Amino acid sequence: MELVVTKNFGNPQSWTLESYRKAGGYQALEKVLREMTPEDVSELVKESGLSGRGGAFFPTGLKWQFVRSDPKTPRYVVINGDESEPGTYVNRYSLELDPHLMLEGMLIAAYACNATLGYVYIRGEYGLAHERTQAAIREAYEAGYLGQSIMGNEGFDFEVTFRRGAGAYIVGEETALFNSLEGKRGNPRYKPPFPTNVGVWGLPTAINNVETLSAAPAIVENGAEWFQNLGHGEATGTKMYCLSGRVAKPGVHELPLGTTARELIYDYGGGVLDGRPLKGFKPGGASSAALGPEHLDAALEPRSMAALGTIMGTGGVVVYDDTVCMVDAAYRDALFFEEESCGFCIPCREGAPNLVQVCERIMHGQGSLDDLDLLEDLGASMMASFCGLGQFAHQPVRGAVRAFRDEFEAHIRDHHCEAGVCQFSSNGRLA
Ligand code: SF4
Repeated sequence: MELVVTKNFGNPQSWTLESYRKAGGYQALEKVLREMTPEDVSELVKESGLSGRGGAFFPTGLKWQFVRSDPKTPRYVVINGDESEPGTYVNRYSLELDPHLMLEGMLIAAYACNATLGYVYIRGEYGLAHERTQAAIREAYEAGYLGQSIMGNEGFDFEVTFRRGAGAYIVGEETALFNSLEGKRGNPRYKPPFPTNVGVWGLPTAINNVETLSAAPAIVENGAEWFQNLGHGEATGTKMYCLSGRVAKPGVHELPLGTTARELIYDYGGGVLDGRPLKGFKPGGASSAALGPEHLDAALEPRSMAALGTIMGTGGVVVYDDTVCMVDAAYRDALFFEEESCGFCIPCREGAPNLVQVCERIMHGQGSLDDLDLLEDLGASMMASFCGLGQFAHQPVRGAVRAFRDEFEAHIRDHHCEAGVCQFSSNGRLA
């Protein structure tokens, strides 16, 4: 299995410039500056099929082309490292173990976009990632990979500013991140206009995820076809999947995009913890709808997940065994999104706490079967939310009701929690 973004993780002091150079670092940038035009770079990346690994899967080369085509200047490249989806920690590994790979990808993007300014924005809680990324930026300036006339190339200048988030999930949404960068409250903005034309400070901006940019140097070095062939069919390249929950070996695995959940959980994750039966799994972090074991052979890539009514999201696969109560699991996800809703629009601000209240009612032995329809209706009304948080925040609850309806009904009708998580008393109320 060929690795693209995690290939240097095992090298000694892999986060330093010295180690990165020993592994061939910054040679792709050199090739770009020596042999390619900005158009060549975006065409190559388009042909490779690289798409946004933050969950949107928008074609990366096309995004760079859009930014370059906008006549306004200066243009920006922004790294979105505000990884906050529960069950997802791929960017953290990259930022801690190989920040120079991301910076080289950022420079390739800057060249393709004719951008001169950039921001690296990292989640507030990622202390070690801040330290190592800031050190990598300093090293890159000292070595002439950042700043004016990069690597001796007159006319290629790129300045980078580091920013630390303040801990809000919503700031992972690209326009909320721009507001945060500009010192404003981290609410999302109207789209369109899209960031490629009106991004940070109102200027054309390519905002990319850490994993996405980290794939660019290998594409330059090895070609578009090589990258295409790493994946499965239209799902090109690799993906860093992260496993958590009730799995024997949680962790990050870089695998072909389109690997099945069975391969990931059993071949790479060692199966369910303590050999217990698998109850289900989430394919894309907290905001994705859980699937039952009958979908273990589904490919973990955007199209096949959409066909099953869920999302690939960030590739944060969460495993559930028979000790997990799916009503409780859905409730906990709903609580998270209630807490993280920024309150800007009504469907999300009102819908998220309502989901919590209905789940609580069911868990406390006070629910009715009508509540299951109510959860469905509440979720449908949240689709009218202003941004992705509200549009997906209902998925964990609606998905759980659809896939594990028997469990919800057992709580309501029989005051019975199969997993023994909700302990009902003799009057049916939660003990
Ligand atoms: Fe804020 Fe939620 Fe509306 Fe997004 S959907 S703008 S997070 S209230």
